[in-house]
Amino acid sequence: MIEVRNLHKIYGRGSVATHALKGIDLVVSPGEFVAVMGRSGSGKSTLLHILGLLDAPTSGEYLIEDRNMLMLTESEKSRFRLEKLGYVFQEFSLLPEMTILENVYVPALCLSEDKNHKKRAIELLEIVGLGDRLKHHPGEVSGGEQQRAAIARALINRPKILFADEPTASLDITSARTVLELFSRLNNELGQTIIMVTHEPDDARYVDRVVWLKDGLVEKTHKT
Ligand code: ADP
Repeated sequence: MIEVRNLHKIYGRGSVATHALKGIDLVVSPGEFVAVMGRSGSGKSTLLHILGLLDAPTSGEYLIEDRNMLMLTESEKSRFRLEKLGYVFQEFSLLPEMTILENVYVPALCLSEDKNHKKRAIELLEIVGLGDRLKHHPGEVSGGEQQRAAIARALINRPKILFADEPTASLDITSARTVLELFSRLNNELGQTIIMVTHEPDDARYVDRVVWLKDGLVEKTHKT
């Protein structure tokens, strides 16, 4: 269970201050696939960065499974991110000098308990349809394939929550559909909790619920 209450974020101070989030309340259940939508500037990325522990709110509460996320020290936060959270960004962020397979298992090397990282990386690459691209480098595959590799990488440590920030924004329509179908399958078949920011209204049909932001507040939320 993910729960935020009365979340505020103010960037800057004084006359240049921007009140990006003005009291967000949100609960996401385990296994839910939620899309955060709204106009540019409504606060979507700010909210996602705070939920992903990549930025801190100015005030408010944030709990994951009753654990207070805002009380974690920097090193606890890093550990929590690595072990429990996965991220997919618009610009795939794969390391160009590594193969697709190496890119996927690198985050597992940081967790000493996990000895089967290579086998799991291959399984994940098969799940995302890249079983025949293991030894390719990112520059040798398409944008859609790079994004699917980035999704496999995000899943390597079995995250509780997968965050995706405009994951299809730099893809063509066909690749974008493949990526969204993949998210939907991961959610339905593996019960993966996913929180995705998108400004593409059509994406709503892949998710369980849409949370609409307007001017830093939840304007409405509806099940799809
Ligand atoms: P969205 O993702 O919906 O486009 P953002 O969360 O990026 O919205 O931005 C919300 C508001 O916060 C906007 O007014 C934006 O200009 C402002 N903002 C976002 N990031 C920063 C930042 N690092 N510094 C100052 N203002 C910011």
